[in-house]
Formats: sequence, structure tokens, C-alpha cells
Amino acid sequence: MLLEIRNLNVYYNTILGWTKVLSDINLDVERGEIVGIVGESGSGKSTLGHAIARILPPNGKIQGDIIIDGVNLAKLKDSELQKYRGTWVFMIFQNPLNSLNPVKKVGFQLVEAAKIRHQREGKKVNERDLINEVIQVLKDLRLPDPQSIIDRYPHQLSGGQVQRIVIAMSLLLKPKLLIADEPTSALDVTIQAQVINLFKQLNKELNTSILFITHDISLAYVIADRIIVMYAGRIMEDGKVEEVLKFPMHPYSQGLVSSIPTGDKNNNKLPAIPGNPPSFFALPTGCKFHPRCSKVMNICKEKEPDLINKNGRRVRCWLYE
Ligand code: SF4
Ligand code: MG
Repeated sequence: MLLEIRNLNVYYNTILGWTKVLSDINLDVERGEIVGIVGESGSGKSTLGHAIARILPPNGKIQGDIIIDGVNLAKLKDSELQKYRGTWVFMIFQNPLNSLNPVKKVGFQLVEAAKIRHQREGKKVNERDLINEVIQVLKDLRLPDPQSIIDRYPHQLSGGQVQRIVIAMSLLLKPKLLIADEPTSALDVTIQAQVINLFKQLNKELNTSILFITHDISLAYVIADRIIVMYAGRIMEDGKVEEVLKFPMHPYSQGLVSSIPTGDKNNNKLPAIPGNPPSFFALPTGCKFHPRCSKVMNICKEKEPDLINKNGRRVRCWLYE
């Protein structure tokens, strides 16, 4: 097992006091597995990514265990984390510019990434070889004219180019776990498909585990082996991607799946889930989805269901207990 998350809770300190934004997260990710994390915005997907990468804002607090390859990142001090950032876990943000330093040339940053990996592997490599390695990766990513690209600053590149530079960085770092937060949402459709293929290639060639965060369940279907459906900071369902799409068990997953456009003009049944996700400051009692659920029962309003194993899946819903 590459990643083991145990009883993870995350809190933010706000003007209204400590607020729990992730609750009771338990999650295992195998080496080489691609896990899609889906849910509407505000469901806690990005917070989960930030918690695992240990890049929560200063008002955030972690409780529980985040074990990557035997090291419990949740228990490390900030000063000890430097060694693991980028190489154990690397996060790609929705805006890829956030993964790059705006005042350093692209080539310099990529050479640094390659250097970090060689250091980790205990190898000494000279500058010329590092630059050649960087150029080779850019060629593999089909970036035209790598020689001129490495001389530019991030803001001098297009959105699609910057995203490929960040992927190049992950290819050079070879992290054990890659977290990608809506990495293609700022890209146009043709580049989106290319970038998805790059992630698949990275996963296949280096056996990198990937957490792919997206609000788009059909995109998760294209890339992921398994999906986690999140709502109100909780895992609501966890299963193999084909199975969840064919037969979603949780009423929230059912809503997400039925809101996928079918392409059939007469059958555009969007949106399927009435209402909005709750605020973390005013979570409903019982099942956090109950105010929006068409199958709500009395017990749902009183008691929160546990995430239980059922038919090779995990689901948090009283319909299955
Ligand atoms: Fe709906 Fe009840 Fe299941 Fe919650 S526990 S999803 S309210 S049926
Ligand atoms: Mg987000």
C-alpha cells in the first residue's frame, strides 16, 4: 500500500472558531493506482489534497494519520517536511502557475526538480546532463522548441504549455504520489485530452499513484481506476469506477451520475440534484446529504451513517445498513 489515511479530520480556525472541514477520512491507495476524487465544489476534495501534501493554510489543523510509504506525514514538523515535498508527494494545482515560481526561468526550475531526484537517488550529475535530461522530457511531452522554452518565465507561456511544464516537473521528480487538482479545467478540450494521456503515461511508466481531483465524474471515468465520492467533507462512496458509474449506490452518487450529459439532445437531464451543498458552519444533523436526498428516512435526520463495506464498495448511507 502506498498511501494509508487513518481517521483523518481537518479543522480550520475561523472567526467562528474551529470548524471541521474533513471528517473521518479513511483511505488506502495502492502503488500505481489512479483514484478519482469527485464531488461538487465545497465538498472538501481540494482540502483533502492539501492535507495529504501538507500544504494547508496556517489556520488549518490535521488530526489523524497520513502514511505514505511508511512515513506518517501528518506527524512531521514543518522543518522535517521539506525532504518529502515534491519527491514523496507532488501536487498540481488547478492553476498550474501556482506550482511554478514566477520569477525563475522554467529551465532553472526543471533542472532543480531533476537535481532533487538525483540527490534522493544518491547520484551526482553535472549541470549539462541535467539540462539534457530536462530537454529530453520536454521533447517527450511534445513541447515545440524546448531550447527556447527553458529560457522563458512561466508567464511567457500559454496555459497548455505551463500545464505541460508542471507535468514535466513531476516526470523529473518522479514522486511516489501525484495529486492533481482539476488539472485540466483551465485548458481547452484538445489539450485536455493530451494532458490526460500524459498522466496515464506517467502512471504507467513510473507506476506513480495519482489522486485525480475533479468535479467532473465523466473525466474521472476516463482516467481513474477507482473513485471516491465526497460530500460535506466526508467520503460517501468508494468503488471501482465502472461499477460506481453503472450502479451508484449512494443517492448523492446517483445524482452525480445522472447529471452526466448523455449527448442525446432529447435526454439532457441536468441538473439532477436539487439544492446546494451545506456550509461547514451549518451542517445538517444526521446524514449530511439528507436535506437534498429524495430517499430520506427518519433515521437519516437523526444519526449519521458510518462508511460501511458493501458488495466490494464502501458507502455511507442508511439504505445499506
Ligand atoms: Fe439519503 Fe438517508 Fe442515505 Fe443520507 S442516509 S443518503 S438521507 S437515504
Ligand atoms: Mg477545489
